[in-house]
Amino acid sequence: ASHEMRTPIAVILSKSQFALSKERSPEKYQEALQTCVDSAQHMRTLTSGLLELSKVDSGEFHLRPELGNLEELTGEVVKLIEPLADDREIKIKCNLQSMKAEFDPSKMRQALLNLLGNAVKYNREEGEIEVTLNKIGAEILWSVRDTGPGIEPVALKNIFGRFYQVDKARTRTGRNGTGLGLPITKAIVEAHGGTISVESEVEKGTTFHVSLPI
Ligand code: ADP
Repeated sequence: ASHEMRTPIAVILSKSQFALSKERSPEKYQEALQTCVDSAQHMRTLTSGLLELSKVDSGEFHLRPELGNLEELTGEVVKLIEPLADDREIKIKCNLQSMKAEFDPSKMRQALLNLLGNAVKYNREEGEIEVTLNKIGAEILWSVRDTGPGIEPVALKNIFGRFYQVDKARTRTGRNGTGLGLPITKAIVEAHGGTISVESEVEKGTTFHVSLPI
């Protein structure tokens, strides 16, 4: 964790030292402050993710289950994500069966947001996302399929590992990712007694499957 914090801290220090070392133009101050804000936001995402995972490790990751409709919850998350998808002309198709179940709405919302957020973030422009929710036997099955670049088999094995990012170099300085979204999603699904799996084909896309017991 401290290793992950090192980059944004170094960015904040060097940008603020640069800004303070002599008088600069307003544009330069603005640019330095923006970089500091971006890095601080990245650290905030990291620390809140780490807090969640430390609760998982210490057995304090408690669910507050209540009876709710999973179709409604999925629809809400799709609505939240739609503006981001629209920005990149990505179409979201939904195939959702209405069903009631006991689940923790806020944690489940977070898990779905992570999966759908990734399906947008790692998709191609004008790509597609398909979200399905149905019941087979004694299982509730969700899938989130995207038309992104896919994930190589070696990377696929590590995808649920903490801080794991396929293209770390690209997100190094960044605001983009922490590599904590999927481990948190997995913890949420498992806390509900479910499982999560992934299948992916390079250059075709990726599908995450979530299965929950009824
Ligand atoms: P983050 O997105 O914050 O980096 P995640 O834990 O959500 O962290 O994902 C870990 C890594 O898995 C990402 O950095 C990305 O490389 C890869 N990944 C996740 N979802 C997808 C997807 N739908 N398509 C391609 N790669 C993905």
